[in-house]
Amino acid sequence: MAKSADLLLVNANVLTMDGEKHQYKPGAVAISGDRILAVGPENEVRKACLAAQVVDCGEKVLMPGLVNAHTHIPMTLMRGLADDLRLDVWLQGYIWPVEREFVSPDFVRLGTQLGCAELIRTGVTCFADMYYFEESVAKATAEAGLRAVCSQTVLKFPAPDAVSFEDSLAEARDYIERWKGHALITPSVAPHAPYTCTPEILRNTALLAAEFDVPLHTHIAETALEVENMRRENGMPVVPYVKKQGLFDAKVLAAHCIHIDEGEMRTLLHAGAGIATNPSSNLKLASGFASVQKMLNIGLNVGIGTDGPASNNDMDMFEEVRLAAFVAKTVSNDPTAIPAVTALEMATRLGAHALHLGPITGSLEPGKRADLILVDVFPLHNSPHFRRDDDNVFSQLVYAGKATDVTDVMVNGKWLMQNRELLTLNENDLMAAAQEYARKIDTFLMAREQSVFSKLVALGGSAEEESFEVQVKVKLDDLDTVLKALEKPEISIQVKKHYHQHDMYFTFADPAQGWLRYREDEMIDDKDQIIGVRGRLTLIGPSREGDFAHDVLLSRIRYFAPATNSLRFYREYFKPTSEIAIDKDRLRWLVHYKNEEFYINLDRVDTPDLGYYLEIKSRTWSRRDAEEKAACSSELILLLGGSLKNTITQDYVEIASKGV
Ligand SMILES: [Zn+2]
Repeated sequence: MAKSADLLLVNANVLTMDGEKHQYKPGAVAISGDRILAVGPENEVRKACLAAQVVDCGEKVLMPGLVNAHTHIPMTLMRGLADDLRLDVWLQGYIWPVEREFVSPDFVRLGTQLGCAELIRTGVTCFADMYYFEESVAKATAEAGLRAVCSQTVLKFPAPDAVSFEDSLAEARDYIERWKGHALITPSVAPHAPYTCTPEILRNTALLAAEFDVPLHTHIAETALEVENMRRENGMPVVPYVKKQGLFDAKVLAAHCIHIDEGEMRTLLHAGAGIATNPSSNLKLASGFASVQKMLNIGLNVGIGTDGPASNNDMDMFEEVRLAAFVAKTVSNDPTAIPAVTALEMATRLGAHALHLGPITGSLEPGKRADLILVDVFPLHNSPHFRRDDDNVFSQLVYAGKATDVTDVMVNGKWLMQNRELLTLNENDLMAAAQEYARKIDTFLMAREQSVFSKLVALGGSAEEESFEVQVKVKLDDLDTVLKALEKPEISIQVKKHYHQHDMYFTFADPAQGWLRYREDEMIDDKDQIIGVRGRLTLIGPSREGDFAHDVLLSRIRYFAPATNSLRFYREYFKPTSEIAIDKDRLRWLVHYKNEEFYINLDRVDTPDLGYYLEIKSRTWSRRDAEEKAACSSELILLLGGSLKNTITQDYVEIASKGV
């Protein structure tokens, strides 16, 4: 007796993308409720199923919807915001400041809706997301009708949706409890990456995911630098490190996995982890090439992802599938690597397995959810057609197919797009609302770009209060006089230190911006060994306050902070008009003189070769204190045997630039 179906899709070129890659032409798919009832040759399915409605597919390809295995969907609202930058400058200089300012449930909802419209148009029926306010992503996705693994991010830093990781972990637990068992949404937790999480976060998120049996979504070994740091700090590569933290107690979806070796791949395989490779993002950010063919050979489930639309900059899975094949061929110098059919398997069945949703989606098989698309393979750019080989149609789809060839999309038995018309979202309204956000973000960034100071503050970190620095500097011929004078009873030495100082001064076209100094101090012990290095960033106030009694200089420092990034980072972020390097050997004493605290610096300036200088410095937080200290410091210079005739009122950078 024939089974009763709600819908019968007939006259299609059915690509099941199942393990045997069955094709039926003409083929048919019968759907009942949210599920596939039957798949096969049209005459057989018609015989086996009686349907309330029959749709003629006009010989289009009928295949499972594509699975976007890794994205940050709300970042559609930051698409094209800043490009052609290194990852750290892009993230810390642009994305994070904008996220701190703008990311809210409303932002996330709109970004998700815009992204869902794009995903549906490009034939995606299922995706894996990782962002903040993930419940808003889940809600908007469910309303749009797409299937997704929605992963709540947990970080060791304060995030737009949590002040601490304990907060975001508690929030993730509540969210998972609320959404577990939803027809479309698989709630999940996302410790962002090993380098942005503590071991405690990795452990706790794994325990949480295991407790609810939901996937854990993370980034693994995206850059060579990450691996280098991991080896230096923990003596092992990334995969063994996260294993040690218990990450694989959960079912893991690991994005990127570019810089991992075969041993690590086997660890991932044994842990049952899924991989998401992101060719566009990896190419654009020059992160490297994942060894995808090798991963597939050893049996890993590798899906394909677009990564966030701010680093791609679109979510076109057709482009991504094509690139996955192209990149694998070029990297292995082997055009047979990742053939079209394999690339398409990665974008469907294997991707679903990578998301741990293999049993319900990713291929057209009876019992699985009806997540499918129709693709027109007859447009100009895909003519003519060869059918000599069963794989011809895969070549057509992967090498010449375009996202715009997708005409119809169904998820969970429900049409989301028919004849290229979106049924659950109004894209014009979404685009207008997104443009309004873009306008606000532009205004915010333009205000910030106006000064070095606001760019510095935008990096985050602790801003110190405005301070005044009293400074007197004299040129010296004879060091011994000073060293001897330091023994005088009026001077009480508190601390003595020895440094090599490497300073890079950034100057800007507008002198009112001041100088930005990047300083690396190498601390030297008695045996002349380097015992520590620290970096500091100082914005030296735009205007010198002027000279006080006896050539004492009062300068204003507006901001000083630990330099947590490299010189290269600051150079690319601040874009100075010129740079001046100063290297010196510095002996430094902290002394008390007349109940005031002073630093005495005895410098040998090596780059440029300027010889010896004696410097007295003191920092105060009020101008009146500064005036008192100014008088005291010129006395101290004389006491140390310096001569005020040799006073230099400029800093080294000015001395160097003027060639004094
Ligand atoms: Zn990512």
